[in-house]
Amino acid sequence: MTQQTENNTPNINAPSINTPTTPAPTGFDQLKLHPALLAAVKAEGYTVPTPIQQQAIPDVLAGRDLLGIAQTGTGKTAAFALPILHRLVANQVRLGRSLTRVLVLSPTRELASQIADSFRTYGRDLPVRGAVVYGGVSFGPQARQLQSGVDIVVATPGRLLDHITQGTLKLDKTEIFVLDEADQMLDLGFMRDIRKIVALLPQNRQNLFFSATMPKEIGNLAGELLRNPARVQVTPVAKTADRVEQRVVFCEGARKRAILAEILTKIATTRTLVFARTKRGADKVAEYLEKGGIPANAIHGNKSQGQRERALNAFRNGHCRVLVATDIAARGIDVDGVGHVVNYDLPNVPESYVHRIGRTARAGAEGMAISLCDPSERAFLRDIERLIRQTIPKLEMPGEAPAQRKAA
Ligand code: AMP
Repeated sequence: MTQQTENNTPNINAPSINTPTTPAPTGFDQLKLHPALLAAVKAEGYTVPTPIQQQAIPDVLAGRDLLGIAQTGTGKTAAFALPILHRLVANQVRLGRSLTRVLVLSPTRELASQIADSFRTYGRDLPVRGAVVYGGVSFGPQARQLQSGVDIVVATPGRLLDHITQGTLKLDKTEIFVLDEADQMLDLGFMRDIRKIVALLPQNRQNLFFSATMPKEIGNLAGELLRNPARVQVTPVAKTADRVEQRVVFCEGARKRAILAEILTKIATTRTLVFARTKRGADKVAEYLEKGGIPANAIHGNKSQGQRERALNAFRNGHCRVLVATDIAARGIDVDGVGHVVNYDLPNVPESYVHRIGRTARAGAEGMAISLCDPSERAFLRDIERLIRQTIPKLEMPGEAPAQRKAA
């Protein structure tokens, strides 16, 4: 993994790789975190901080704004959660009614609840209260949780604005603002909501801004929000592909289901995430697998919160080792030990391919990604191979016509 810190304000749209100016600490002990936090990370089995943690924690502890160019899987949640918890405890204040000291914005409910879980895990022995706020579940219990004030609110933008409108949450005393997965916020159409929320925050605050990629609009937003930020960049998106063994199967669209079933019985026999382009496609694939005796669940935006949570739990605890997901639904899935990713459909945005395959081979584990490519998807494959600067080797499945790459 590469990493970088810059201490002056850089051109946000044009990240460059620099060597850190100070040698990075090697252990959590050197990060000057509260002993309860050190105990919690130890209990989680973390032995060394990940590069983003090494680079970001000292700056966040010092109260600096941060621009983190990093994707899920790099340990970015702990990179902001640990120093935030430390700062809250180092300077405890009485919480006013409906106020919060920290606001973390996340694009999806799954990611929001995972971030809240991380705060809970790391802060379990600290006097810190948190609440998670997202749509799709009833408003009342969330409002009651917020009533007497909480230290940390993790929220998706829409429901957060509902609470602000109803007066159940006020941002007047928010000291730290975290925007996570800013590029996904843009993709999901949340930019206006974010600007509305930012306008309600006090001027004097610490801002932490995370994004896997830096399209122009996100660079502009970062430029508006951040004051002299420390900048940390880990593993540019295309690099993830290096750690995952990748294969492509060329086939006709009509053969995909049967080939998927074969892959799932012969090759991808561990916990496997299957990606489909559409919600309906994800359902159909899961149904087909179920009928063929391969237990599978689908997860996408049309499923209820309860269905999504049940599917995720079954996947996490191994009761159902195949999960079929759309890109957006998969955003917040934080499950270690995904051995295989199968792209049932290739994504039309090449970066999505890198995000998808990044779901496997996490924390140094082995992983394999197999993509099914029908004739209509050759252009997508070409774009992906250009982005990752690799030609993905072909996997021959019995019964498939060989050597179809030339047509790509
Ligand atoms: P994130 O990028 O925040 O989604 O984190 C990805 C995964 O890495 C999560 O499952 C974390 O529990 C795990 N993790 C975070 N920090 C460390 C660390 N220092 N050592 C090992 N695992 C970690």
